[in-house]
Amino acid sequence: MTFASHPNRAQSWFDNGEARFVAFIAGGDSGSGVLRPNPNNSDGAMIIDCHGHYTTEPNDLLRWRKEQVDHVKDPVKQPSKASLKVSDDEIRESLEGAQLKLQRERGTDVTIFSPRAMGMSHHIGDYNVSLAWSQLCNEMIYRVCTLYPNNFIGVCQLPQSPGVSPDSCIGELERCVKEFGFVGCNLNPDPSGGYWTAPPLTDRWWYKFYEKMVELDVPAMVHVSASCNPCFHGTGAHYINADTTAFMQLIMGDLFKDFPTLKLIVPHGGGAVPFHWGRYRGLAMNNKRPPLDEMMKNNVWFDTCVYHQPGIDLLTKVVPIENILFASEMVGAVRGKDPQTGYDFDDTKRYVDHAPGLSAEDKKKIFEGNALRAYPRLKKKLAARATAPA
Ligand SMILES: [Zn+2]
Repeated sequence: MTFASHPNRAQSWFDNGEARFVAFIAGGDSGSGVLRPNPNNSDGAMIIDCHGHYTTEPNDLLRWRKEQVDHVKDPVKQPSKASLKVSDDEIRESLEGAQLKLQRERGTDVTIFSPRAMGMSHHIGDYNVSLAWSQLCNEMIYRVCTLYPNNFIGVCQLPQSPGVSPDSCIGELERCVKEFGFVGCNLNPDPSGGYWTAPPLTDRWWYKFYEKMVELDVPAMVHVSASCNPCFHGTGAHYINADTTAFMQLIMGDLFKDFPTLKLIVPHGGGAVPFHWGRYRGLAMNNKRPPLDEMMKNNVWFDTCVYHQPGIDLLTKVVPIENILFASEMVGAVRGKDPQTGYDFDDTKRYVDHAPGLSAEDKKKIFEGNALRAYPRLKKKLAARATAPA
């Protein structure tokens, strides 16, 4: 599989990074046999990676999407769901040499797993195109989680579409949580793919969807998809812009007054926020908004998808420890080894392990405890995992 064959390629002016993946060689022992506690674990904590994508999906899923996109204006010619042909062995092969291999090498116990974020591409086609594609992707994640119940717990893609009310995503969220046992969703604050035509996340436009999230007790990771705006590189600019934008929206709005138990995860280390923590604290103060730690408390988390040690050092120094979730985004945004360290850029556990000033208790919160607070359904899933056959 080459990058050029990914359907997003034609939609994007820039290399959107996450859409590219190398061919992994299948091999190794069975991934379903990881037992807790993993001997590589830090200070006895369970290592929960809250941000992983299926970026090594079987070829036929990409073939299916390409056919759908090729006939985006002609529903009759779009492929049927039944035309997707992916065997369990192909799913195993796609994971064994990639995500599962890295889990074992790095000592991650379980990954909260969702479809490829770039692949969501909500800007392509209409709602029905998004719905069929999202359902197919979510069913693929469900198959992954069924094949490897010890290694993956699902999070769903939503059938968002520019200009269409988020109410239209309630059905798919409900299906994924109730039928598939998923524990969260990825919510795109900008379904237009870089043109920001949707209201801010604090607008009532989103409220019915939030009501359903609260009812089901699932969080959303605020996660954009591919950028079709040539000004914004996907993973390099659009992702980080969106994280920063979402956080500023949350500062200025009263979302958590209206939804005291709504939970949002801002990925990629919170975008530019930690580095500019003083600016955001000051802006909150100037605008007579609550202090940041008070606003975030039981509602907002940043993940650790920051790909160097100084970044994690800063993140863990300025952001409350209670609001940081361990994540690596593997296999995804930045591939390859950092020549300065000799380790993979996305081997983020290493940075948390070495962050100065973190106590064993802090690390346990980042690796395990905070995730249990952010994903209330996780506890039950992990209990089931503990009793699943190794
Ligand atoms: Zn991601």
